[in-house]
Amino acid sequence: MALTGLQIYKLLPKTNCMKCGYPTCLAFAMALAEGRVALDKCPDIQEGQRMTLSEATRPPMKTIQFGLKECECTIGGEVVLFRHEKTFYHQPLLAMLLSDNLEEKDFHSKVEEIKGMEFRCAGEVFKMDMLAIKNDSGEADMFVRSVQLAREMPLLLISQDLEAVRKARGVLTNQRPVVLGNSTDEWMDFAVKSDTVLAIKGRNSGELAERSGRAQSLGLDRIILFPEVRGRKEALVTFTQCRKLAIEKRDPEMGFPLLGWAGNDMAMACNFICKYAGIIVLEPMEYDELFPLVTLRFNIFTDPQKPQAVEPKLYEVGRVNEHSPVLVTTNFSLTYFTVQPEVENSKIPSYLLITDSEGMSVQTAYAADKFNARIISNAVHNSGLKERVKHRRIIIPGYVAMLKAALEEESGWEVIIGPKEANGIPKFLRDLHL
Ligand code: SF4
Repeated sequence: MALTGLQIYKLLPKTNCMKCGYPTCLAFAMALAEGRVALDKCPDIQEGQRMTLSEATRPPMKTIQFGLKECECTIGGEVVLFRHEKTFYHQPLLAMLLSDNLEEKDFHSKVEEIKGMEFRCAGEVFKMDMLAIKNDSGEADMFVRSVQLAREMPLLLISQDLEAVRKARGVLTNQRPVVLGNSTDEWMDFAVKSDTVLAIKGRNSGELAERSGRAQSLGLDRIILFPEVRGRKEALVTFTQCRKLAIEKRDPEMGFPLLGWAGNDMAMACNFICKYAGIIVLEPMEYDELFPLVTLRFNIFTDPQKPQAVEPKLYEVGRVNEHSPVLVTTNFSLTYFTVQPEVENSKIPSYLLITDSEGMSVQTAYAADKFNARIISNAVHNSGLKERVKHRRIIIPGYVAMLKAALEEESGWEVIIGPKEANGIPKFLRDLHL
């Protein structure tokens, strides 16, 4: 059972010695309750209290790392059922399924095609996360050949043949793969000895818990649970049940990320993004089929407590010159990605001066005093605009027309009131005579 900050505080030495880096024991207790600090940062806790605290502050779900040595993938480590309760930390990884039955040339070009896929959402660039290589051929050599060709991406190895997996693992010196095969002691022993993450199968939460407990008793703690569900409804029920057991019941056997098999079922894949897969296996899809999935994931796994912001700076839209208009707005991502395309649509090359509003939209930033005459004026002077344009005019959003007089006085530039909504920008710019 998780303890509150005050309950934790009662078990601390209460000397406020600051060895943990916090000014008081109470501050440390609050940080510990929120999972922001590790228990061992306090060296003076008595053994009995340490054991109680260690159990009570254990994260409900283990964080699992795997993949390439130079940039490991991380899944799990979640602490809530619903995003609004806190946040979701690690987005599910999309694993594209490839069969080792493909001709070497076709397999290679498929790998290159998947590696080259890029998805852009609100200024972020995403790639396919991993490949799932399936030993359809039944041949160890074919499997090893395919694994070798794909080894520059994080891999999920799928085979019922432990010897084939053992050989494939042998060529993966650059990474720690995930293996989906059997869930017997022999496979668990292999995973422990070869530093491999094992996906443990089970038809329901009871079977998964039993096998996870067995794996842990054999010293295997890098586990992913794979509920073998039939259909979307069963997936929704089983994955939710597994997550509840991990988070609400803090069941140590269920406190691991989950693997979901979506195949070519997009609705199932969406289901897994929302509830609650750590890895989603997909059959090869076209770029435009994958894009909505990546966008959904981006939306669900954006931290609601952190405003999405773009870098505050001077942006060029089109082939600007010294006569180009200058529009000013805030660095809220959505604002930028709404305004920028409309400026582009106008076909009038323009400068877009983005101020630092701590990721707030225009009206919110104005209300919070983060988009005022002084801030805009400083941005104008620090951006080097003076050297880039001959005129001395800036366009501000219509919603902050009331800033005009103060901004002209502060900056020395003429201020033009632009449209309130971004969709008014193309006409506004075309009609503008600077
Ligand atoms: S190190 Fe321990 S005793 Fe010292 S302030 Fe931190 S929590 Fe308190």
